[in-house]
Amino acid sequence: MSLTFDSARLPNPDLTPEHEEWRTQLRKFVDAEIAPYFDDWDEAGGLPPELWKKAADIGLLQLGFDEKYGGISEGIDVYYSMIVNEELARVGSGGGIASSLLIHGIGLPPVANFAKEEIKQEIVPAVLSGEKRICLGITEPSGGSDVANIKTTAVRDGEYYIVNGSKTFISGAMSANWISTAVRTGGEGASGISMITIPMDLEGVSRTALDKKQGWWVSETATVYFDNVRVPAKYLLAQEGMGFLVIMNNFNGERMAMISCMEACARVCLEEAVNWAKERKTFGKPLSKHQVIRHKIAQMKQKINATQGYMQIVSRAIVANKANFGDLANLKVQASETMEFCAREASQILGGACYLRGSKVERIYREVRVNAIGGGSEEIMRELAASQYGL
Ligand SMILES: Cc1cc2nc3c(=O)[nH]c(=O)nc-3n(C[C@H](O)[C@H](O)[C@H](O)COP(=O)(O)OP(=O)(O)OC[C@H]3O[C@@H](n4cnc5c(N)ncnc54)[C@H](O)[C@@H]3O)c2cc1C
Repeated sequence: MSLTFDSARLPNPDLTPEHEEWRTQLRKFVDAEIAPYFDDWDEAGGLPPELWKKAADIGLLQLGFDEKYGGISEGIDVYYSMIVNEELARVGSGGGIASSLLIHGIGLPPVANFAKEEIKQEIVPAVLSGEKRICLGITEPSGGSDVANIKTTAVRDGEYYIVNGSKTFISGAMSANWISTAVRTGGEGASGISMITIPMDLEGVSRTALDKKQGWWVSETATVYFDNVRVPAKYLLAQEGMGFLVIMNNFNGERMAMISCMEACARVCLEEAVNWAKERKTFGKPLSKHQVIRHKIAQMKQKINATQGYMQIVSRAIVANKANFGDLANLKVQASETMEFCAREASQILGGACYLRGSKVERIYREVRVNAIGGGSEEIMRELAASQYGL
C-alpha cells in the first residue's frame, strides 16, 4: 500500500459516485486554474479577481445556497463542501485560498438565512455569481473568543442604525462589498447583540490591510473601522437581540470546513514526507529505511486515520440532523492537533528542504496556528465540548 494524498484517505461508505464526480471536476479546475499560480498569488498577497467568476462557472461559489437566489442546493450535503476544502488544501494551502475565494461561506449564510427578502435579492445572487464579495466581522481588537462581550455599537436613529467601533482579523475584507457584522444594540451580554450587514461603500467605513502575517497571505485580512456609519435599518439580520443566535448558527459549517482542510493538509504533509524519505539517502540507505523516520511516518498515518474516522462519524450525524456539537468542537481540536503534528514531523523529515518557500510543507507549517485559533480556538472548543457534555 502506498501513502499518497488519495490512498491515505480511508474508504468512506457514504461517498457516492456523484460526490466522486464532483471531486474529479473540481480537481481538474484546481489543477488548471489554481495550482500552477498559487505560490505567486500567495507571495503577492491576493487572488486574481477573475478567479471568482471562473469559480462560479463550475458551481463552486454556489454550493449549498438556495436555488432561488442562484445557488445549488438540490442533493448537496456536507460531503460536497468537505471535498472542496480537501481539494483546495491539496495544493498546499492551509486555508488561505478558502479564506479568500470562499469567504462568503461564512459571510453570506447570515444574509441567506436571516435577511429581509429585499436584501437577500440584493446580495445573494451578486455574491454567488462572483461579481461581488461579502465577509464576516465578529472579532474586535478587544478580543475574539468572548463573542458575547463585543463593543461595536449600533444605535437606532429613525430608519437607520448609527454604527461605531471596529473589527479586526477580517478575512477577505480588503475587497469585500459587504460585511456581516456583530454589533451591540442592547445591554451587556449575548442578548444585547444583533447582526447587521453593512455595505462597505457607506461613508464612515474604512479598512487597513493586515498584510504582515505568518500565513494566509493570499486572504486579504484587514481591520475595518466604523465611524458614525449610517446603515439603513433594512440591513438588520433577524431581529434585534438575536445576533448571538445568528453567529452560533454559522459556526458549525465554518468548523467542518476548517476540519476538512486541516485533515487534508496533514495528508499533504504525509505524502511529501513519504516521497522525500524514499528518495533521500543518508548513511547508505533511504531515510524511509531508518527506524526513527519510518515510525514518524507510521505515527502520522495513525493520527490521520483517527481524524478521518472521527470525521466520518460526525459527518454522518450532521447528515442525519443529529450532530452533537461537543463532538464537533472536539473534532476541530483533533484536526488541528493532527495537522500540527504532521506539519512538524514532515518538516523534520524534509530537513533543510522544508525551510525554503515553494515547499508545500513550509506553508502548511506556517498555517497551523490560524487553524488552531480561528473559528474557535482549541481552548474554546474544549470548553464548548465540556459544557455540551454537561460538566
Ligand atoms: C488569519 C486570521 C483570519 C481571521 N479571520 C476572521 C474573520 O474573517 N472574521 C472574524 O470575525 N474573525 C476572524 N479571525 C479572528 C479569530 O476568530 C480570532 O483570532 C479567534 O476567535 C481568537 O480571538 P483572539 O485572537 O482575539 O484571541 P483571544 O480571544 O484574546 O484569546 C487569546 C488566547 O486565550 C485563549 N482563551 C481565551 N479565553 C479563554 C478561556 N476562557 N479559557 C482558556 N483559554 C482562553 C484563546 O484560546 C487564545 O488562545 C481571524 C484570525 C486570524 C488569525
